[in-house]
Amino acid sequence: MNIENEKSYVEKLTEELLINRKNGFMDVTDEQIEKADQFCEGYKNFLNKAKTEREAVTVTIAYAEKNGFVPFNRDVTYQPGDKIYYNNRDKSLILAVIGKDGCKNGVRMAAAHIDSPRLDLKPYPMYEANDLVLFKSHYYGGLKKYQWTTIPLSMHGRVVRRDGTFVDICLGEEPNDPQFCVTDLLPHLGSEQMGKVLSKAIEGENLNILIGSRPVRSDKGSNLFKLNIMKLIHEKYGIIEEDFVSAEIEFVPAFSARDVGFDKSMIGAYGHDDRVCSYPAIEAIMHCQMPKQTILTVLADKEEVGSDGNTGLNSSFLRYFIADLARQEQLDGYDVLRKSKCLSADVTAAYDPTYASAYEPLNSCYLNNGVGVMKYTGSRGKAGTSDASAEFMAEIRNLFDSNDILWQTGELGKVDGGGGGTVAMYIANLDVDVIDVGVPVISMHSPFEVVSKLDVYMTYLGIEAFFTAK
Ligand code: MN
Ligand code: MN
Repeated sequence: MNIENEKSYVEKLTEELLINRKNGFMDVTDEQIEKADQFCEGYKNFLNKAKTEREAVTVTIAYAEKNGFVPFNRDVTYQPGDKIYYNNRDKSLILAVIGKDGCKNGVRMAAAHIDSPRLDLKPYPMYEANDLVLFKSHYYGGLKKYQWTTIPLSMHGRVVRRDGTFVDICLGEEPNDPQFCVTDLLPHLGSEQMGKVLSKAIEGENLNILIGSRPVRSDKGSNLFKLNIMKLIHEKYGIIEEDFVSAEIEFVPAFSARDVGFDKSMIGAYGHDDRVCSYPAIEAIMHCQMPKQTILTVLADKEEVGSDGNTGLNSSFLRYFIADLARQEQLDGYDVLRKSKCLSADVTAAYDPTYASAYEPLNSCYLNNGVGVMKYTGSRGKAGTSDASAEFMAEIRNLFDSNDILWQTGELGKVDGGGGGTVAMYIANLDVDVIDVGVPVISMHSPFEVVSKLDVYMTYLGIEAFFTAK
């Protein structure tokens, strides 16, 4: 055997037997990159308009209705191709397209979440201190508190008055709107603070939001600063201080989604987790006219705090919805569920070379290598996760390969590095086959998370292929 032949033998064997991992851009066409960039223009628009779960529901319903979706009515018998939506308390949403075969062979779902880490207001939020007016906040979800100081914040949410009437607030997003912020200590006086560990340097009780500094001008009375701000709020929104008791107000980063990098290959924004999977799941169902099986896009609330509560996926609203669909076809809900399949569409951590020691490089997801397919997430030895079966993993791998979808797999950091969970286990507990898929994110849970446009688009193609699978 001469050297030439020997080389080709090794090359051939390598090709046949070993994984060939290369950057995703080496595997896609100019046309696909162009399509990815275009797709992400729509995504950035969605990010800017849907910064909270309530806004995501509102924006998605408006979009769905334009595309022929109607509110679900248990008393109507639906036909293949019919498009329906179920609005769960304005904070979670199910979109469905009835398939040719209905749900007798199970449904196909993509489940993402539309809540993100942020600062919520406490029930009695407003106070004045030393001639400044502030809101007390209570952070929501797993965030690094120091990241939420000295950035512009906008105010979103709903205030419900005693009589049940309500006002929706969105302030700080328009060019002339005021914005808000959590203050931090100047470095000149920060020597004690700077000596603390990162997790203690900014305490939860210090996440106070600056909202005003001018008083009612009067010689009489107290709380004149707070009174003036409450007067302005009352004039604008018709609410009184006590109405904050029955409110859900969220402060989120006020900036818009922006391209990142000279090549504009990435998007930086608040709330990629998990709008970056919600948007592809919404787009995929909008473009799927007549699926074989009934398909669902599930947009859940409360994932960031463990999925508990009646708008989270640890409640029964999804199970009941599927039971209603099943009853229409004289089927049992549990029988439909056990034949159903689900992509739990949520983000994963992207390898960050600056923090390389947190990752295990062989089993990490990388920016631009496509949609991440995770057999399991969890922490402390695979606890708190649904570990998808080898069979289902193989099915998704085959589906993505046969549809030319760029995909990768990995774990969320090093084995003992921490970990995380998704809604996968709650859906798997309904006797459904579930696997985690989603977009790798850099700086996850920060006010400015970063994703790759190519990965966002591949996630869309992946969900679409799953919905249209024969
Ligand atoms: Mn998430
Ligand atoms: Mn998250």
